[in-house]
Amino acid sequence: MEYQSTITCPACGRADTETMPTDACQIRYTCKVCGLEMRPKRGDCCVFCSYGSVPCPPMQETRRASQ
Ligand SMILES: [Zn+2]
Repeated sequence: MEYQSTITCPACGRADTETMPTDACQIRYTCKVCGLEMRPKRGDCCVFCSYGSVPCPPMQETRRASQ
């Protein structure tokens, strides 16, 4: 299980590595450079699933279980 995900801002390209909460979905993330507020894309549960290099822990579990 990976608990760190690198979020890349779709506006300015800034990438930051963040530690993900294991028991909750983070639905907002604000870019540290341009201030863009990212929200999950349709069908994604959190910003890590939409913009992160690694999906959130619950989603990692789901994907593992379905393989
Ligand atoms: Zn940005």
